[in-house]
Amino acid sequence: MKESAFQTNVVRMLKGQGFFVFAVPNGGSRHYKEAAHLKAQGVMAGVADLVICLPKGKVHFVELKNLNGKGRQSPAQRAFQETVEYLGNQYHLWASWADVERFMNDHRKEAKSMEDDLKVGGTD
Ligand SMILES: [Mg+2]
Repeated sequence: MKESAFQTNVVRMLKGQGFFVFAVPNGGSRHYKEAAHLKAQGVMAGVADLVICLPKGKVHFVELKNLNGKGRQSPAQRAFQETVEYLGNQYHLWASWADVERFMNDHRKEAKSMEDDLKVGGTD
C-alpha cells in the first residue's frame, strides 16, 4: 500500500474514533517558484504528515511511512522530530497498522472525553 493510501485510511480510522486530526500538505513536487512562495508562507521541509491534538494541550505529530518497511526519515524529518520533542510534543513514526492501533488504544479515552465535551462529531 502506498503511503498516500495508508494516510487516507489512517485519517478515516482516527476520525471514526473521534480523534481531532489534520494533515499538513507539504509533500509532492512543485515548480521552484511555487515552492519558494510556499516556503515564504511557512511551509517547511520535514514537517510530519499528520497532527493529532488531544485534551490538555497534548499534540502528537505523526510521520507515515510505506507499509513495505522501506520508508526512512529524511534528515529534515529527523530535525523536525528533534525540535518538536524538545518542545515537549510527541512524535510518532507509523509504518504498520499495529502502530496505529497502539496509539488509538492508548488514547481512546482522551478522544472520547473530547467528543463528549465538545458535543460535535469532528469539524469536517
Ligand atoms: Mg511520510
